[in-house]
Amino acid sequence: MSAALLALSGLRKSFGGILAVADVTLAIAPGELVGLIGPNGSGKTTLLNLITGFYPPEHGRVRLLDRDVSGQPPDAIFRAGLTRMFQQVRVFRRLTALQNLEVAGRAAGLSAAAARQRAGRLLERLGLAPHAGDEVGALSGGQQKLVEFGGCFMSEPRLVVLDEPFAAIHPTVKQVMVDVIGERHAAGQAFLVVSHDIPAIMRLCPRTVCMNAGAVIADGPTEQVMTDRGVVEAYLGGHAR
Ligand code: ADP
Ligand code: MG
Repeated sequence: MSAALLALSGLRKSFGGILAVADVTLAIAPGELVGLIGPNGSGKTTLLNLITGFYPPEHGRVRLLDRDVSGQPPDAIFRAGLTRMFQQVRVFRRLTALQNLEVAGRAAGLSAAAARQRAGRLLERLGLAPHAGDEVGALSGGQQKLVEFGGCFMSEPRLVVLDEPFAAIHPTVKQVMVDVIGERHAAGQAFLVVSHDIPAIMRLCPRTVCMNAGAVIADGPTEQVMTDRGVVEAYLGGHAR
């Protein structure tokens, strides 16, 4: 097995008395596409916040390639090669779609000309070229998510982390995202994708991790994880209560 791209060991984070992430150990290899599922409140977003530097871990370590990035701030982790998309859309509403991507490109160190060129190509691929000059605040929620999604690819990230990218978007927008994730993965891009959309996870992700109550309760080939008794019970239990 090749060296891990991302290696988490014993990661923990609590809020008051709630153990949101309970000693998670997990590794992602270069180029892997991994799904992360689990009932609401199981700690998925908190885990992403630990990985991307939004919270320092109480215990445990985050290693990206061969670097220990535990406790480093989000911008340092971004520069180390990790980019993310948030569960709640984060875009510059008063800037155009093109400008939003240009900002992401400049933040990643591209020249103005290179950022513009790359942004134009991405908008084309995302089907947003007709909206390049529109203020993002005037676009649909799904289109805004697509703009944020596009921003992830304005740099050459080693790992892209997506938090429920398919939630509450039009099926055509979702299809674009699914296709682009598949294409980029085929070209060697690694992803960690949080989603409740089980069909999309099954289509995209060879491997899936399931969390419940802050812990990893299953990790393996997606089809196996989806039929795992503990996974099924975690979902049924969560809905029954
Ligand atoms: P998921 O993304 O799987 O739905 P979260 O990571 O958002 O789960 O939440 C895990 C647990 O941590 C939940 O019990 C949630 O209420 C709690 N939690 C998450 N963020 C905070 C916060 N900023 N302050 C207090 N509790 C939080
Ligand atoms: Mg969440």
